[in-house]
Order: sequence, then structure tokens, then C-alpha cells
Amino acid sequence: HAERFGGQLVLVTGAGSGIGRATALAFAQAGARVVAVDRNAEAAVRTAESARRAGAPAAWAETADVSDEQAVEKLAEKVGREYGVVDVLVNNAGIGLSGSFFATTSEDWRKVLDVNLWGVIHGCRLFGRRMAERGQGGHIVNVASAAAYQPSRALPAYSTSKAAVLMLSECLRAELAGQGIGVTAVCPGIVNTAITSTAHFAGVDAGEEKRLRQRATRLYGLRNYPPEKVAVAILRAVARNEAVVPVTPEARSARVLAR
Ligand code: NAD
Repeated sequence: HAERFGGQLVLVTGAGSGIGRATALAFAQAGARVVAVDRNAEAAVRTAESARRAGAPAAWAETADVSDEQAVEKLAEKVGREYGVVDVLVNNAGIGLSGSFFATTSEDWRKVLDVNLWGVIHGCRLFGRRMAERGQGGHIVNVASAAAYQPSRALPAYSTSKAAVLMLSECLRAELAGQGIGVTAVCPGIVNTAITSTAHFAGVDAGEEKRLRQRATRLYGLRNYPPEKVAVAILRAVARNEAVVPVTPEARSARVLAR
């Protein structure tokens, strides 16, 4: 997809690691100018450097916590002033939280909803508004999860946050269609990133984690699905303006079952 996004400004949140990093680099290879946002400043800088090496005509690192509305407002102002209006926004930043409903506290729920849901709301509101005001279209990608439509005892808070992101994306897609702004919800199954090696399975005992991974492997031949393949799906979804995109074999099967 070399040069397919030439001249476009792409902003990716959670770009310091995993799917966000891979997505920022894929857009860089496709010729886009890239803004790599992460709450981890050093990780954002590393991604921006890699993006330049990957071929982005320009790449910048910005530090922000997406759950903080004022921080995202400040970021949107700065990006608008210094780099321009964002053509493609990828709301990817997210955190994992495992543990059954009665094993998780209200504070746990607030933390995961603050990042996974409110972070997406802030991004859509503050960058989407500027996109709409410009009047030249654009695209918003929200990284949800197969957990959005696949109930699990192990991940009620995480799954609830992602179900909300999926519905928000579909509602916003309808609202913005008339303005030429596409909205996509990307729903990966289990992808090989830091979230799945640590946070996602934290609190799930080792036996249960092994069982979940083995089940996925047995059913779908799943082995170490790389974040780079999710990035490819994201670029394709933007180019084709797809609405909901399950990524990984088990995410696709679960989507069919859920409908
Ligand atoms: P990751 O932990 O490798 O990367 C997440 C990045 O987001 C990190 O760099 C982290 O610093 C950043 N981040 C976290 N909270 C932030 C905040 N409040 N503000 C700004 N940056 C923040 O995880 P990943 O697997 O690449 O996850 C990316 C997205 O994909 C998440 O939304 C996650 O829920 C989703 N997802 C992941 C999987 C998977 O199996 N890995 C599956 C489905 C969905």
C-alpha cells in the first residue's frame, strides 16, 4: 500500500506499543504524515522515529493521556495549529482488565471505562469536530475488540467498555456519513502484544490463560497473531470505508455467531 495515504495526516493513540505502533508504521509506509500519541512519552518518541525511518514524510511524538479530556483538547489544539487537520484518527489506546464481575471493584471499572470508552469519546469529539468543520471528510477508526460481542466470565469490564465503543462507532458512523467522514470499529481477537502477555490475562490464573489460548489454537489454528496484520486490516478498512471489521479467525467466527 505504498503511498496510498500520501499527504494525509494520521493520528494514532496508544502508538507506543503493539497494535498502535504497528498501525502508525503501516501508515508511515503508505506515505502518511504521522502523529504518534501515547501516555508513555518515550514509547511515542520511539514510534515517531521508526515512522520516519519507515518512510513517513513527517512524524511527531505527542504525550497525552486519552482519558483526560483537557489533555486531549490541548493536544487537538496543538495538532491543528502545528500539523493541520487530522485526516485519519485511530483511537487505539486501551488497557486490559480481567477478573469476574465480583472480583473487580468499581474503581477497576472506572479505570478501564475511563481509558477504553472515555478515551475514544474524547478523541471522536475533539478531533472529529475539527474534521467536520473543515468539510473535506476524513476517517475515524476505533479499536474495539471481539470481546465487544463475545461475552466472557473473565473480562466483564473490558468487554463492556469495548461493546460501548462498538455501538458508539456505529452510531457515529450514521451521524457523520453525510459529511463524508467514515467511522470503523476494528475488533481483533487475541493479538500478540503487551496487553495479552500481561494486563489482559492478569488475575486469570495460569491454567485458565493456557486453556483459553489452547482453545483458540485448537479451534482456529491460532498462533501468535501479529499486530502488523491488524494494522493491514485497519488501512484496508479506511481505504474501503468498512463499518465493523473483525480481525483474527476467532473474532470473525464469533461475529457470525453473535448475529
Ligand atoms: P499494548 O499494551 O501493547 O499498547 C497499548 C498502548 O496504549 C501502550 O503504548 C500504552 O502506553 C498506551 N496507553 C494506554 N493507556 C493510555 C492512555 N490512557 N492514554 C494514552 N495512551 C495509553 O496493547 P495493544 O494490544 O496494542 O492494544 C491496543 C488496542 O487494541 C487496545 O484498545 C486494546 O484493547 C485493543 N485490543 C487488543 C487485543 C489484543 O489481543 N492485543 C485484542 C483486541 C483489542
